[in-house]
Amino acid sequence: MRLYLVLLGPPGAGKGTQTHRLCAGLGLFRVATGDLLRRIAQEAHPLAARVRSVLEAGRLVDDATVWEVVSHYLDRAAETYEGVVLDGYPRSLAQADQLEDYLTRRGQMERLWCVLLDLPETVAVRRLAGRRICPRCERIYNVDRVPPDGRCEVCATPLIQRADDTEAIIQKRFQVYWEQTAPLVQYYETRGRLVRLDADQPEDQIFECLAGYVRSWLTHG
Ligand code: ADP
Repeated sequence: MRLYLVLLGPPGAGKGTQTHRLCAGLGLFRVATGDLLRRIAQEAHPLAARVRSVLEAGRLVDDATVWEVVSHYLDRAAETYEGVVLDGYPRSLAQADQLEDYLTRRGQMERLWCVLLDLPETVAVRRLAGRRICPRCERIYNVDRVPPDGRCEVCATPLIQRADDTEAIIQKRFQVYWEQTAPLVQYYETRGRLVRLDADQPEDQIFECLAGYVRSWLTHG
């Protein structure tokens, strides 16, 4: 694979929205751990009950479970895709080391780039409170852009609010972000793999900027 793109940023920074657009527009493969874990939580999966309780508390699912999911999709993507977008992974230093080991073993560490979608917490919290999602195809909407019939414009499924997009759980997710995920900014910066992007801009502008980086990484590595 030519590109492993890690999207980093606080909850609500727009990682999911931009990941959908990058994958649809540039043919990358989407690995969104939050969506994958929510699917497990709803299935008749042996881990369902445990994963559901962690998600609903706004904490992090254990590294081994997450890695099992991520590595499966990375291996699968490597067969057919030029690049992959990692949305929500890694989320801790231990997970970043895990990914680095995997890529180093394959001689691909220099194909990893991390983009930080930088956003003040106050703006992010406002966005999360107004977020609606399609439980079927995982598209993301904002309350003021929800279609009048309240259904997904791609698959017509009624939109819902995520169980963890409530005030108390949002607060917990930010706490986890600052404690466990934010140190990754320095981690990738030290390795010379980090690009910062101001995420307090219109969605289209962020996409243009991201797409520009992605095109150049796909071409020049
Ligand atoms: P957001 O970025 O808006 O917080 P996500 O959909 O990426 O939302 O993640 C939702 C939840 O899924 C997280 O709060 C966490 O419980 C779990 N999760 C997602 N990615 C990981 C990960 N890499 N490691 C552990 N837990 C994760």
